Order: sequence, then structure tokens, then C-alpha cells
Amino acid sequence: MVEEKNVVIIGSGVAGLAASYYLKKAGIESIIYEQSNTPGGLSKSFSFGDYYFDYGGHCTFTKNKEIQEILESGIACHESIAIPYNFKKRNWIKHPVQNNLYSLSKNEKIAILEDFINKPQYESVQNYREWLLAAYGEYYTNNYPTLYTRKYWTVEPEQLETAWVGPRMYQSSLHEVLEGLFETDTPNVHYSNGIRYPKNGGFELFLTNMKKDAEISCSKQAKKIDPDKKIIEFSDHTFVKYHTLISTVPLPEYRKLLCNLNDEQIYAMEHLNYTSLTLISLGLKKVYDIPSTMFYIYDEDILPARVYSTTVMSGKGRQHISLQAEVYSSRFKPLTQTMEEIKEQTIRQLIEMQVFKEEDLEVSDVRYEKYANIIFTPDIYDNRACVHELLRKQDIYYAGRFGDWDYLWTDQSMLSGKNAAMQIIERKK
Ligand SMILES: Cc1cc2nc3c(=O)[nH]c(=O)nc-3n(C[C@H](O)[C@H](O)[C@H](O)COP(=O)(O)OP(=O)(O)OC[C@H]3O[C@@H](n4cnc5c(N)ncnc54)[C@H](O)[C@@H]3O)c2cc1C
Repeated sequence: MVEEKNVVIIGSGVAGLAASYYLKKAGIESIIYEQSNTPGGLSKSFSFGDYYFDYGGHCTFTKNKEIQEILESGIACHESIAIPYNFKKRNWIKHPVQNNLYSLSKNEKIAILEDFINKPQYESVQNYREWLLAAYGEYYTNNYPTLYTRKYWTVEPEQLETAWVGPRMYQSSLHEVLEGLFETDTPNVHYSNGIRYPKNGGFELFLTNMKKDAEISCSKQAKKIDPDKKIIEFSDHTFVKYHTLISTVPLPEYRKLLCNLNDEQIYAMEHLNYTSLTLISLGLKKVYDIPSTMFYIYDEDILPARVYSTTVMSGKGRQHISLQAEVYSSRFKPLTQTMEEIKEQTIRQLIEMQVFKEEDLEVSDVRYEKYANIIFTPDIYDNRACVHELLRKQDIYYAGRFGDWDYLWTDQSMLSGKNAAMQIIERKK
């Protein structure tokens, strides 16, 4: 038997939830189908006893009042200033490194400063390496962001284009670089200044208002879409007929979901690149006196790229602390160890870094997210446009980080879901 539904949404991350929320506001009923057994996508949280964790470091710093209201209304929030640090060769350096050179060796300071002053200028920047060279000079580029790019993006900077950079990489003035050479009390310029996080739970609490009135059917993985008959088949062999479809499914997944694809479409789907996240979550009685619980690690032999604490973001301090470490992989840098090995090595390395002591470890967990970040290789735009054109022809509205295939934060993914809903609302008028 095929059930019939008016508006069907695939995926219950913030994009799917926002689409449902705005449709409801306009008086249009919808149903969300989610493959996982709980809703929320990347914005979910999980816990072990009193230790709670997110799926990768999440906080909100949205400036959009409407989105902020949906996320935070009725939720007790802790607001704080993120003061991240960087770790390299046993040295803790305030973020961003180029503004905080104080603790570096004399030779390194001179090399960074000389190359900063002699930065190359490009008529048009061709790739991320050139962007870095033009912003910071050669020594710094080679010894800091290049190392981090390999860990976070899993590629060399010259393999990336630059449209994603925006405010994510701070561009310092000579004055700021000089200031950080002589003193430690430098201004905080992190892009996520003024971060907000629930006081009493994980990031998922921010989904409360959207989940409240949404109809969500979990453990329903869309396996095939027939856009001509407007029928979705799920992996439990049930079917639903839809009138209108919004999908937040990652674009490469249409290789399996749709039939009759041509070679160009298959090529495009197979060449959309992304990183996957191996997430190590640790429940600790306390951490050492490290300068920050949000830090980036540059050493290539240390597995995680980033470490942060949900407990600290919620304002609960450094006792009974939930700490999470992110290890990235991709087709360019496949995992070479089992999940358990990655967890054990990460624990060992964080202990060696004196982040915590072995006897303080109470809980440890490792899990994997296939889709974490989109990798901006130069072919992204053609490949993405090809899949989007196909979806438009098939009358499928796409939304979200992996539907738009863009580097979207939570608020932007919600706006993407809203945008899909608004198109449907307009069409139904
Ligand atoms: C490590 C990390 C840290 C981040 N930190 C921040 C941050 O601090 N602040 C911030 O604002 N943003 C942050 N983001 C971005 C934020 O997580 C995303 O913008 C947002 O969660 C994306 O929501 P979405 O609904 O588009 O996608 P998702 O959350 O991925 O939701 C898609 C949903 O679709 C489901 N699905 C997929 N295929 C199928 C199928 N075939 N059938 C049924 N269901 C399916 C998935 O299970 C999933 O639940 C971070 C992202 C990552 C990876």
C-alpha cells in the first residue's frame, strides 16, 4: 500500500526542521522522514550519565534575530566569548597565531615578519595557497595554515579554491602582527565572538521549538525516489506518494536514489568531495590548567585537528567536563586505523599534551559521520550546478548544508530550509 502525503521532507536536520516549521506557520502540513532513529542530523547531542556531547563542536553565533528566536526562545543560554588557542610543538598560542607571535622563537618571529612584509601580490588569486601567501607570506603559510589545511580539509591548500574563506580566516594588519610580537594581551578577533550554548544540555536543545510541532518519522531511510510517479521507497520496503518534495539529502547520495542518470550527472555526483568526521568524546573529572578548552592542533603526528568542550560552552567550568576531539578523513586522506585505534591514540596524545590525566577519564566514545564538511575543490561549482539542475528538472526542492552543497552554519542551513518552504508557499498561493 502506498501512503499519500502532501509535502514530504527528507532529513530532520535543522534545514528539514526549519522547512517544516515555516510550512506549518503558513498552514501547510508536512512530514519529515529521517533515516536515523532520532531527529536532528548534525545538530543532535548524546549523553553518558551527566556528560553530554554534540556531533562536532557546535554553538550558535547567529546575528539573524528571527533564527535566534527560533533556536533560543525558552532555552536558558550561556553566552561567552570564544578564546581559542593553537597547539604546535608543545607550545600554546592564542588564536590567530599571526596576531600572537609572542611565545615563538626569535628565528620564527623574524621569518614570519619578513615574509609578512614581503607578501606576494596576485592579480587574481588562483587557489587557497595563493590566498594564504597573499594574506600572510610564505613562512607562516607553510608552517601554520598549510599544516592545519591537511588535517581539517585533508588536502593541500593548492587543491582548494577560495570562495568559502569569507570571515573564517582573519587577515591581520602589520600593526596587529607587530603588537602580538611584543605583548600577550591582544584583542580577540575570532569569527565566532559571542557564542551561545544551552546552559543545561547539548546543542540539540536549540531544536526544541522546531521539533515541537513537526511530524517526524524516524528510522525511515529513503532508498529510491521516482520523480515521475512522485513515489519514495524506503529501506524498510514501505512507500510514500508525495505531492511536493523537499530533500536535504547530500547530493552524492542521488547516485543511489535516482535512476536513469546520464554520464555527466554520475560524474558530477561522484566528484563532489567532502570530509568525514571521526569524533572522539571524553568524559573527564577535570582538565589540566590548559589555556583554552577550544583549540586547534597543527602537529601532523597528533590525530585530532580540533578539540572543544560542550561543558565549558554551557558555562559549567572545567570540572566534570565533556571534551570532544575531531579527526577528519576523505577520499584524499582515507582512514588507516580502526575507530577504536583512533580513539585510543587520541586519548594517549591528549594525555601527552597534558590536557588531562589518565585517572580523570571516566567516559570515552568514538563515532563516525560520513558527511561533515564540503571540500571546495575547484570543480565543485560545475558538479554542484549539474546535480542541482537535475533536481530542479525532477521537481525536487533541495535545502541544507548538503542539499545546497555549501559551507553552511546552522543558521544558514535553517535559512536554506526556510527558502525551500517559501518557494512552496508561493507556489501554493
Ligand atoms: C564538525 C562540525 C561543527 C559544526 N559547528 C557548527 C557551529 O559551531 N555552529 C554552527 O552554526 N554550525 C556548525 N556546523 C554546521 C551545522 O552542523 C550545519 O549547518 C547543520 O547542522 C546542517 O543541517 P542540515 O539539516 O542541512 O544537514 P544535517 O544536519 O546533515 O541533516 C540532514 C539529515 O538528513 C538525513 N538523511 C540523509 N539522507 C537520508 C535519507 N536517504 N533518508 C532519510 N534521511 C536522510 C540525515 O540522517 C540527517 O539527519 C558544524 C558542522 C560540523 C560538521
